[in-house]
Amino acid sequence: MNKETVLFEEGAHKCVMFSLEDEEQEENSLSVNQFLIVQGDSAVLIDPGSGAIFTELYDAVARHIDPRKIKYIFFSHQDPDVAGAIAEWSVATSAQLVISGLWSRFMSHYGLTDSSRIIALPDHGGRVPFKDGFIQFIPAHFLHSPGNFSLYDSRSKILFSGDIGAAILSPQNLNKRVDDFESHRPFLESFHRRYMASNVFCRAWVREVRRYEVDTIAPQHGSLFRGGNAAAFLEWFENVEGGAEHIDGLYLPNVE
Ligand code: FE
Repeated sequence: MNKETVLFEEGAHKCVMFSLEDEEQEENSLSVNQFLIVQGDSAVLIDPGSGAIFTELYDAVARHIDPRKIKYIFFSHQDPDVAGAIAEWSVATSAQLVISGLWSRFMSHYGLTDSSRIIALPDHGGRVPFKDGFIQFIPAHFLHSPGNFSLYDSRSKILFSGDIGAAILSPQNLNKRVDDFESHRPFLESFHRRYMASNVFCRAWVREVRRYEVDTIAPQHGSLFRGGNAAAFLEWFENVEGGAEHIDGLYLPNVE
């Protein structure tokens, strides 16, 4: 599998996807993606993952930009496959560490010693000017984590969606690109049904995302949705039913 894909390149702006796996876990793990936005001599690293891939990812990033020039490292939520190596990245770079305010105080449990490095995002997210465009932290709460964000890059029109859009074991994950939404859909269904909290949150997120011009949806697991497949994904996702809609299946029937 190709471990590095340039998703967008125009002038000084470049978006790169790395698909590094913890090799010991490769058989049972989800396929994991990490992302880098480079703009001139500044950069944003997205969902860099756990300690198992830290060195390999650091070297891969360094082929595109001096890692000391990373301005922000964004964590869509608190999970170990997203933020597990936050302590290592805090030492290796001088970047600000951007994560939901719900999770900032927990990062010391991953070994982060300097909490002043964290930018704790408020629930409604926010916009940061990024050279001649902006990056927008879009609320994605309860999809699946209670404090959860997606990141939109206005230059590339890529939406980095975190766990939203994750596909498990889809044959289309092999080339990291959805060619046919309908045949990819079955591999999305069980994950979203169990991990997403409720259709209420799916709808709120889709409504917000539609305010932006999105060409590509890039999830942290699985394959990219581009063009018509991104539109098909949004149409599907706004009708996803999550935990709240399937709560009966989570408890044994009451036999009295
Ligand atoms: Fe997660």
